[in-house]
Parts: sequence; structure tokens; C-alpha cells
Amino acid sequence: MPSARHGQAATCFLIEVDNGDKFLFDVGTGSMANVAALMIPYDMLDKLFLTHLHTDHMGDIDALWAGGWTAGRSKALRVWGPSGSREDMGTKYAMDNFLRFANWDFMTRAALISPIPGRIETTEFDYKGVNQVVYQENGVTIRSIPAVHAGDGPVSYIFEYAGLKVVFGGDTFPNKWFLEHARDADLVLHEAFLGPEDFVKLYNQPPGLAWRACCAFHTSGQAFGKVMSTIEPRHAVAFHFFNEEATRYGLYDNIRETYDGPLSMATDLMVWNITKDAITERMAVITEDAWAVPGTARQPGPERGRKSEYTPFILSGRWDEGAQPAQKRMLDEFAEKYGLQDDDWCK
Ligand SMILES: [Zn+2]
Ligand SMILES: [Zn+2]
Repeated sequence: MPSARHGQAATCFLIEVDNGDKFLFDVGTGSMANVAALMIPYDMLDKLFLTHLHTDHMGDIDALWAGGWTAGRSKALRVWGPSGSREDMGTKYAMDNFLRFANWDFMTRAALISPIPGRIETTEFDYKGVNQVVYQENGVTIRSIPAVHAGDGPVSYIFEYAGLKVVFGGDTFPNKWFLEHARDADLVLHEAFLGPEDFVKLYNQPPGLAWRACCAFHTSGQAFGKVMSTIEPRHAVAFHFFNEEATRYGLYDNIRETYDGPLSMATDLMVWNITKDAITERMAVITEDAWAVPGTARQPGPERGRKSEYTPFILSGRWDEGAQPAQKRMLDEFAEKYGLQDDDWCK
């Protein structure tokens, strides 16, 4: 949901295949704290597929981008996403202008760390493509189909690897492309919205908006169930609802009016292990205090000749005569241990 909540992040799914390759699908507000808690080297989190450009599906791109940059990602972040009905509604426009929004961040880190991991390489594809291949590498094929949500642009993704198929709906009203191309899937993740009454009572929405949000540009529990009983996946996953005691039973009952197959009610850090034999739901084990994990590649060093973003005016304000003697012993020991020269740290 777009309103942030301490106990639950917005949409983000990570797909991991058995050759180690990893793929992020959406990176909604608050989700990167959960992703970071899995302690995956950021070099392996360099592929992001966006279903659409609502902030609850891309709002934590800043944390993925800058967090990965400072924690050792050695290369650019790669982003795939749909075009829009106009240039300014597409993924390329969003990413290019995100970098404009974050320009001070980019320029200062580029001068101090390396500009390379701060780049974003965007692959924008036609949102109208039906079952079009948008990615194909190392045995993984990712296709897109159009979704029906809030305006033109959103898509759903179909992920195939080793004879297994996962479909991620993103946000969408039930649609004919989904019914046709999400068939024969092992795992299908589709949004299921809380009923409009919940939104009136718990989210302070006027009834008219609650009705439209739930059931006109999202998918109600009953409609979710109808989609699943029509396409019959091996396992269905409902997401995009605040999952708590006050809400989960009502939504579950709504879904069960129209679907009686295997079902997970998604919550943060829920994991599905998918093989030909079984699909197992479990919870990830995490630490609250995760640190970055080194990858196999070294991050490039600072760009030679790149201009500092300081001016002499600001540097003239430094209190070196107080600070440097205070930290000298500690830094001398550190420099000796790692073989650093004075100018590696004294600036
Ligand atoms: Zn949305
Ligand atoms: Zn959403």
C-alpha cells in the first residue's frame, strides 16, 4: 500500500534460481530493509523489473541504488520496465528523472567512491506487448503482458526457468491477457484488495473511493479467487493488502467464495520453494541488524581526474587543527594496517 507502515513493506518480490541468479520485481516503499536483511551481495541485486511506476512499487529504488553503491555493487543498476502512453509516462523518463532528483547524491558519491555503480541502465519495452520476451539469459526467460490498472502502462511478468513458471501480476484488474498467459503456472502472485468496508473503517477513505480502489482498478478478493479458479495454478499467492488480524480473515473469506485451491496470504519475508515435486511456503530467517555482504567482484575505484564537489569556501571551514590530532593515532594505526598513504584519508 502507498501509506507506509512499520510492520509491512510495500510490494517487492525476489526470485532466485538454482544457478544463483537473482531478480527483483518491484521495489516498493520500505521493501529494501527486508531485502537487505537477506544479506545478499548487492552485486547480485543488479536486475530490477518494474511492473509500473506507482511509488508502492518503486519507492525504495533510492535505497537499492545508493545502498548498493555504498555497499560494494561493482556495476550499474539495471532496470527493466514498461513504456507509457506518452514519453513522460514511461520507465526511462522515471529513471532518468530519478537521477536528476538524486543529482547531488550522485555527484558527491561519484567524486568520492566511483561513478560506475551509480549509473542506471534502463531497458524500456512496449507496455502493449503481449507475451513479449523482455529478458533472456542463463536459462531465464521473462515475458510481459499488459495489465489494467489506473491508466495505460502497467504490465505483469511471466518468469520461466528450468520448466517452472512464476507469474507476477503487479497491480491489475482481472484481465484477459492474464487469463490466457498465466495458465499452466507453478506459482501465480496476483493482487487481492481488502474489501471496500475495510478501507472506509481503517484507511479513512470515502466510500466512493474505497469502492473504486478495491474493485475497479485493483482486484477484490472474490475477483482474485475467480481468476485463480479459472487458471488453476499449482499455488496461488494473494498480496497487496495490509496483512493483520483485523483484515486477513475477511479477505480470506472473500477469496474462498470463488477459489478453493492452494493459497498463500502474503506477508513480508514469506518464501516459496518451488520444485517439480512440491511448492513449500515458509518464512525467511533474518537478522534485524544485517550488514552488507561482499560479492565476488571488486568495486571500481574513484574516477581519475574527477572534480571534487567541494569549493575552497567550504573547505576553509574545516577544523583540521582540532580534529586531525584527535584522530591521528587511530588513523595512523589503520593506515599502517592497510598500507594507506596520507592522501587516501587526509583530504
Ligand atoms: Zn499501482
Ligand atoms: Zn500497488
